Amino acid sequence: MNLKPLQEPVGTEPPRRGDRQEQCSSCHTPDSAYLWTDERWRLKSPPSPSGLPVVVILEPRAHLDLGDLSTMHAAELGVLTVRLERAIRSLESVAQVHVNRWGDGTAHLQMWFLARPKGYLQLRGPFMTMWDEILPAVDEHEWRMNLEYISAWLSDDLERTPKGRDPSGTDVSRETARFLRSACGHRRRRTWPVGPPT
Ligand SMILES: [Zn+2]
Repeated sequence: MNLKPLQEPVGTEPPRRGDRQEQCSSCHTPDSAYLWTDERWRLKSPPSPSGLPVVVILEPRAHLDLGDLSTMHAAELGVLTVRLERAIRSLESVAQVHVNRWGDGTAHLQMWFLARPKGYLQLRGPFMTMWDEILPAVDEHEWRMNLEYISAWLSDDLERTPKGRDPSGTDVSRETARFLRSACGHRRRRTWPVGPPT
């Protein structure tokens, strides 16, 4: 195995995809291609399963990069990041969730959420994105169920009211609990070590 030599720095940075909004693929993709949407945010996944149990991407609906977000966008991004991390980490097959924004590929903000499968300690750390490409793809049915679960959790969380809180006292509201019973079974439920979002 040989190390790649470090290339000389270029004088001018190359353009990113979507630097011109009229050519931005995110801006021209309809809501129907996304897992979940609201007025200002959209959540999508790659088109097919990969080596990790869950990979999802959160984008602002508007053509904005991280440093362009308004205070309201920034506050919502924080709340959504925590809710998504909770939703993904609640899956039985998931141990940890990596949250990344690289910024080199596209001018339209993309926040990546990548799930490390439980027990696979070798995948810990920054090389997990490479393992996602190296490992055989996860079972497609399981992958789709995971995405449906996350989408349901997110929709329910945003509409949560104190009245809708699950009577068992877990951080799972009544609608999500109903979805879990019908689609996933109780095995996916988990009581959180932390309190529900306020
Ligand atoms: Zn865009």
